[in-house]
This record gives sequence, C-alpha cells and structure tokens, in this order.
Amino acid sequence: MRDFVVVGAGPSGARFARSAAERGRDVLVLEQGEIGKPLACSGHVSLDVWDYVPESARDDLFQNAIRGARFHTGGAESRAYPFHRDEPISNAVDRVGLDKALARAAADAGADVRDEHTVTGVEAGRESVTVTARGPDGTDTYEARMVVGADGPRSRVRSECGIPDPDEFLHGVLGFDTEASHEDFVDVHLTVPGFFAWRIPRGDAGVEYGLAVAPGDDPNERFDALVADYGATIDRRCSGLIPVGPPSRVTGKRSLLVGDAAGQTKPFTGGGILYGMRAADHAAATVDPARPETLPDYEAAWRADLRTEQRLGALVRAGYDAPEPLQRAGMRLFSGEIGVHMDEPTSLLSREQLRAMFSRG
Ligand SMILES: Cc1cc2nc3c(=O)[nH]c(=O)nc-3n(C[C@H](O)[C@H](O)[C@H](O)COP(=O)(O)OP(=O)(O)OC[C@H]3O[C@@H](n4cnc5c(N)ncnc54)[C@H](O)[C@@H]3O)c2cc1C
Repeated sequence: MRDFVVVGAGPSGARFARSAAERGRDVLVLEQGEIGKPLACSGHVSLDVWDYVPESARDDLFQNAIRGARFHTGGAESRAYPFHRDEPISNAVDRVGLDKALARAAADAGADVRDEHTVTGVEAGRESVTVTARGPDGTDTYEARMVVGADGPRSRVRSECGIPDPDEFLHGVLGFDTEASHEDFVDVHLTVPGFFAWRIPRGDAGVEYGLAVAPGDDPNERFDALVADYGATIDRRCSGLIPVGPPSRVTGKRSLLVGDAAGQTKPFTGGGILYGMRAADHAAATVDPARPETLPDYEAAWRADLRTEQRLGALVRAGYDAPEPLQRAGMRLFSGEIGVHMDEPTSLLSREQLRAMFSRG
C-alpha cells in the first residue's frame, strides 16, 4: 500500500509529492492530462517561486522581471498611479514549463508521477483509501493510507470526501498578444466589479491581457472591451476558475486538500501558486499517513501561516469596490516607492513599507 495518492500534478500536488518523497514517503501522483496543460494562469509570481524550482530549470522558465504596477480607476488612457521599487518585485514565468519542472523535481525525489490518469472515485475505509482512476490501459484502483486532493478549484477529491467548497469562485479569462514587450510594469484596472483587469508584459512571449469576474458577470464581454481599449490583437485566449475563501476544513478522515482545492489563494489577486506550495510543505511536514490524528496539525499549520494574509487580502480586495474618489485618495496615499511583498498583505504595515512612504519627501 502507498503512503499517499496525490490527485493532480499542478504546483501544489507536485510540491507536496516532492516534499513527502524527500521525507521517505511512498507517493503516487495521478494527473488527468498532460502536465501543465491546458494553461489557465498568468504565471505572475513573487521571486519566492525560485526557492521551489531546481536551479537547472530557472533560465528556461523566466520570461520577464516586473518592478512595479500602474493602478488605474479607468481604462488604458486613464490616469495611472504607479507603485514601484528599484529592484524586481515579481517575475512572469512560463507556467506550463513551471508545472513540468515541479513534477520532474517530484519524480527526482522518488515520487511515482503518472500523467493521463483521471481520478473518478475516492473511497475512504477504516485503514486505507481506495482511489479509482481511468488511464491509457483502462480503469484501475490504487490503495493508499491517505489521499491528497491537489486537483484544483473543482476538486473531485473534495466532493468525494464530503469536504465543503471554498466560499466563492471567480471566473478568469486571459489572452495573449504576440508582440514582445520587456516593460517592467504591469497595469491593473479597477474597472471590474469585485476584482480587476490586468496587462502583463511577458518579454519575448508577448503581452498578456486578463481579468476575473464574480459569478453571474460575463468575463468574455469585458475581456473584448479591455483588449479593444488597448488596441491589442489576441492570438489565443483561455479561462479558469479562481477559488476565494477557504472552507472551514480542508481535511477528511483519510484525506487532505492542498492548493486551489483548499481555497489557498490570495483574495486580492487570485494568485495561488505560492500559497499552494507553502501549504503543501506544511502538509508534508505535519501529516503522518499512518496516523490520521495528525491531520489537524496540518489544518493548524497552514492556517497559522496564511490566515492573516488571507484576511487582510480580503480587505484589500474590498477596496476595489470602494467609491472612485476613495480609491483615488487611497492610491495617492500609497503610490510611489513601495516596500511590500506581493504575497503578504501584512507587509503593507511593515517597517519597509512605512520607510518607503515616509522617504518620499
Ligand atoms: C485566469 C487566471 C490567472 C491566474 N494567474 C495567476 C498568477 O499570475 N499567479 C498565481 O500565483 N496564480 C494565478 N492563478 C491561480 C493559479 O493558477 C492557481 O492558484 C494554481 O494553479 C493552483 O495550483 P494547484 O496545483 O492547486 O491547482 P491546479 O494548478 O489547478 O492543478 C490541479 C491539477 O489537477 C489535475 N486534475 C484535476 N482533476 C483531476 C482528476 N480528477 N484526476 C487527475 N488529475 C486531476 C488538473 O489537470 C491539474 O493539473 C490564476 C488563475 C486563473 C484562473
């Protein structure tokens, strides 16, 4: 019997598999398609991402360095409020390549990673869990001490194990103009109720345009308006869900969720790559697959790490819907040089941020 069957080889599943295998666990990873595909993510991440990526893969994944954001309350021609630093704050990376590199690192650590395997059922027994998956050679079952749901926003493991859903699912759409851009600022437009629209220069990979909307809103109509406003030509577009607000529990009898499946995202950007991998490390460090009584240790560890960031992130997001005069006043106050970490809203209150604000003269 395996220690863990991990469902999904996105960043969270691959990271969990690597961390658990490095601790000597016997780990099987089942991924429904080709690893990394289909793309449904900007791959705009803080520099912390490189702590998780083997050195040999870094040059191939890097696309562009970003050192600031121009915030707008209107469209492409509206007044911009820049937030910036002299040094890079974030990078645009090849997201498909990132997933492949993280899965390779998991395999190198000893995990058995299999693509083209779709999990269709999960049954928890007293001593083990049985996972059913459809692969190239038909349907098979796999026995493990625990199952890890790293299967994204619409997690099958979550529903099979009776774990509650995240609070909300935003619908994100993005598309690419092929013209290269090495600019080092992203643009953020607070023109979408409950969220925002963005433009990300991606070096030789072109320029990305995107946005996310709350349920009931039409992302495609808004996306068409955004690219028309910029006069961009979109070569290909894709879409995906962004879960916001983690459920009250992300563990079951012999199951645990990591990443988007668990709602481990930043409420103010929708980003989940780094939070998912951080939580995956907590899971691998705290959960003993032979002792389900260790599952609460994982709940405690990941919430201690991310709870305050997620709560503050939700407050930042609430500001996106503030009346425009208030938004402008807030942006005037905070714009300029910044000392914040893009994954940590608590850094808005940090010494670095206060120093940056008060050194503006
Ligand atoms: C439009 C958009 C833009 C985004 N931009 C950013 C960004 O710039 N930065 C950032 O940090 N985050 C971004 N995100 C969020 C980010 O994509 C997710 O937080 C991240 O992918 C979560 O990783 P994960 O491993 O938890 O889940 P996923 O990456 O969704 O991986 C889940 C994996 O499980 C597999 N799977 C699902 N069901 C099954 C099954 N039944 N059997 C087997 N395999 C299965 C899937 O194929 C997939 O490979 C964006 C999201 C969207 C929608």
